[in-house]
Amino acid sequence: MKTLTRNDHSHNITPRKGDGREIMENEQRVSRKIVIHYTAENVDQPIICQLVKIHDLVFNILKARIFPKREGIIVLELSGSPENFNNGIRYLKEQGLKVEPLSKSVNQNADKCVHCGACTAFCPTDALFFEMDTQRVLFDAEKCNGCELCVSACPVRAMEVNIF
Ligand code: SF4
Ligand code: SF4
Repeated sequence: MKTLTRNDHSHNITPRKGDGREIMENEQRVSRKIVIHYTAENVDQPIICQLVKIHDLVFNILKARIFPKREGIIVLELSGSPENFNNGIRYLKEQGLKVEPLSKSVNQNADKCVHCGACTAFCPTDALFFEMDTQRVLFDAEKCNGCELCVSACPVRAMEVNIF
């Protein structure tokens, strides 16, 4: 598998009022896509609500499969300062949840891919893209949101998404 890794730290530029002048301040933030696995025992707990309140994080739900008294899965994009992010992940694990990066659940099977480019037309995040120099389709796992559009687009079933 040819998987690119990119640092997806983002820098928010926040204007701040000073002595009559506006100055720009760089504030480092991280944004990561994660898969959270609930057990039947903790699926009804308001853990995500507590997570964002206690650790000052922002979340965006990308996917979810939750039923009462059954194992469940939520895919989130979680953003905040690096320290808050790490504390938040620790908090989730302390609550008995299993947490994994989404990138572990999506794979471009190098043995099957013929670099036809069909998937690049469907991928909404540009996680799949054509590299002109090598004439190959590459996969940037950090950009992937797990939507699975590439799975049905691929004629040889080279894209594998194993979230649920
Ligand atoms: S559609 Fe499938 S075979 Fe074609 S480039 Fe994408 S992953 Fe490879
Ligand atoms: S799952 Fe969605 S975002 Fe990820 S590579 Fe496939 S089409 Fe792109």
